[in-house]
Amino acid sequence: MVHYLDHNATTPIRPAALAAMSEALAFTGNASSVHAWGRRARKAVEDARECVAALVNAKPEEVVFTASGTEANNLALRGVTCATIYASAIEHPSVLKARDDIRPLDEQIEEGSLVSMMLANNETGAIQPVAEIAGHVKARNGFMHCDAVQAAGRIPVDFAALGVDLMSLSAHKIGGPQGVGALIVRDGVMLASILKGGGQERSQRAGTENVAGIVGFGVAAAEARDIRDLAPLRDRIEAALPEAVVFAADGARIPNTSCLAMPGVAAETQLMTFDLAGVMVSAGSACSSGKLARSHVLAAMGVADDLADCAIRVSLGWNSTDADVDAFVAAWRALYARTHREAA
Ligand code: PLP
Repeated sequence: MVHYLDHNATTPIRPAALAAMSEALAFTGNASSVHAWGRRARKAVEDARECVAALVNAKPEEVVFTASGTEANNLALRGVTCATIYASAIEHPSVLKARDDIRPLDEQIEEGSLVSMMLANNETGAIQPVAEIAGHVKARNGFMHCDAVQAAGRIPVDFAALGVDLMSLSAHKIGGPQGVGALIVRDGVMLASILKGGGQERSQRAGTENVAGIVGFGVAAAEARDIRDLAPLRDRIEAALPEAVVFAADGARIPNTSCLAMPGVAAETQLMTFDLAGVMVSAGSACSSGKLARSHVLAAMGVADDLADCAIRVSLGWNSTDADVDAFVAAWRALYARTHREAA
């Protein structure tokens, strides 16, 4: 019996998305071809575009499909022509490393700049004041980009109401496949493609569309509109672990995420112990290199290094169960009892 509590790293694919993808993989057709098979692929892509747009209250023609959330963030930051770009310190590396001239958001925002702010943080779940900052940016004739990769499907996300110009999404965080994303580009915003080649995606993203992946994204987006309230499960975890230090708990959070430290026990030890018990979580953020590095998010929040080193992230999703929560709580309590008895 395994218990997967790492939905912010990636979510299990929804059965309906998998079925639709299998069907799409089996048919031939380049969505740019004008013949019947090409038109069939084009229709599949356009149907998915409508579903992805509907998830975030955008127009279908504002959706640009990409190969990941990372690519969407890079396209936003590198495709817009702006002299100055600001990002908050807790952004995902795919924002922070997209350019080497990004300024910290605590500086005064210059006229006509681009500001990038995530809607929900992937490590702590903290919800950021995107609409408020967008108001300031717009008053200075700037552009606002929002990385909504972790917010979509977990809280209602409204592209139009947030007042942003650009928004990044990723299929595999909402029950779709890995390797597909989208950048929502507000009508009228000019974007230069960072990939050079064909004129796909209204010349904003060159390259033959990943038809099956996009189909899976569309089905997942349609299902993700029906948001499951995971707060009761998350709250049950936190209530059962009074010795844990829970980060960002005093502000608004997406309901599926809990970032918590077991004081005195390294995150690596926790991960390995829980894994042996069949419980899968991650440390702070899931590091792409497979190595654990200190969390830049907790550091930016002023969390002391020795406590940050003991922080893990539990993230729930569309198929999480009470049994998953019970297994995690039991594993956590057993390790805590063992380590603190030994320490006493
Ligand atoms: N933005 C945030 C907030 C994320 O959590 C992630 C992935 O973890 C990404 C962007 C990148 O998305 P992808 O994995 O599709 O490249």
